[in-house]
Amino acid sequence: MRTPVHLPTGGNSWDLLSKWFREEHDYEWMKLHRSSRAIQPLCRALLGIMSIIFGLTALVKLVGPDAPPTTFGKYLGAIVVVSCFVIAGYWFTRPFPGRRGLIAFAIFADIGLAGAVLMVTDRDSATFGCITFAVSGTYATLFVSAKWLLSHVAWATGVSIVVFVLAFTEGTVDHSTLLARALVLFAAVTLLPVFSHLTWRMMYRDARESDQDPLTGLLNRRGLDAAVSDLFDQARDNAWCLAFIVVDIDKFKAVNDAYGHAEGDLVIRRTANRLSAHLGQRAVIGRVGGEEYLAVISGPADLITTLTEGIVQSISDHPDQIRTTVSVGVAIMPTESKAWTGGTSAISVGSNVADSMMYQAKAAGGNGFRTTNI
Ligand code: GH3
Ligand code: MG
Ligand code: MG
Repeated sequence: MRTPVHLPTGGNSWDLLSKWFREEHDYEWMKLHRSSRAIQPLCRALLGIMSIIFGLTALVKLVGPDAPPTTFGKYLGAIVVVSCFVIAGYWFTRPFPGRRGLIAFAIFADIGLAGAVLMVTDRDSATFGCITFAVSGTYATLFVSAKWLLSHVAWATGVSIVVFVLAFTEGTVDHSTLLARALVLFAAVTLLPVFSHLTWRMMYRDARESDQDPLTGLLNRRGLDAAVSDLFDQARDNAWCLAFIVVDIDKFKAVNDAYGHAEGDLVIRRTANRLSAHLGQRAVIGRVGGEEYLAVISGPADLITTLTEGIVQSISDHPDQIRTTVSVGVAIMPTESKAWTGGTSAISVGSNVADSMMYQAKAAGGNGFRTTNI
């Protein structure tokens, strides 16, 4: 039997469009996601091959019968050919680029294509050639933000309009052919990239939210599993220590009873923020129970000791109306630990040991921490 699918609904199309337009594009997350799914080498190969194809197309035009008539045009053509091959070399040999590299490639492709279709004097070929904007549009759809995609679409549509107006006024292509081509272009160059981007970004948002705890914005169990496994590999490659940390709020039920569930939620969120601020970027942190968090950090031994010893104070040393104390359990896996040889099963061992350390801290009256090595 198929599992029924339930998706959250809500919002109208206008909200969706405005959210899509304003949404920040997390280039680093995309890069990590692609590398973790091994699709990155394929993307690089595809873009390398595309650059070579553009270079070869430009070369064929440059030496063929409809080569640019002016010296300036010939030089420009030669620059495009060389740039395409140099960029192809980059795609094949260099790591996948970040935001700047991806946007720079989009701009390069669009300027190159615009130059090509505007410089070709045979308007029949030029109007036909505008369809190549669909290729740079696919690139923009896959790799850049909504704002950059819209800039691409505006540019490609604008350049195509100029080419079609020139063809129309010169009268060298019959009008019904021009109209048919313009309609196909409008679909392929203007409408489809926008709709495709909008659709995949919606799915991206849902995918990211499925890794997160909605109350605190921390990872949930699912997100934590994937992130901890990455951190484990990173620590092993760098010969760092790994620390598993379980944090549980003391007597939290009493907070709910005295102040209500909504205030309780605020305390859970506040504690999450303090824990994130204290442990910093190095940590992977998730909410794994009502008022319980699991954090994993990697780094040199002295840094790990300083950070773990400071957790209790970082949460309780504030002049709060509802004072919060926590019990913290820590399991440290030093570089020389035998647990590394067990591979990723060490992750569940580390979490379980940290959990029992937390219970020891709680049994000792709470507001404290216990640590051990594994
Ligand atoms: P201890 O010091 O032993 O940790 O006691 P405690 O009261 O903190 O722990 P206990 O497990 O007895 O109670 C946890 C409470 O957390 C019970 C549950 O109602 C509450 N809780 C769980 N999830 C949420 C939530 O999302 N929001 C709020 N406000 N309360 C929650
Ligand atoms: Mg508790
Ligand atoms: Mg608890």
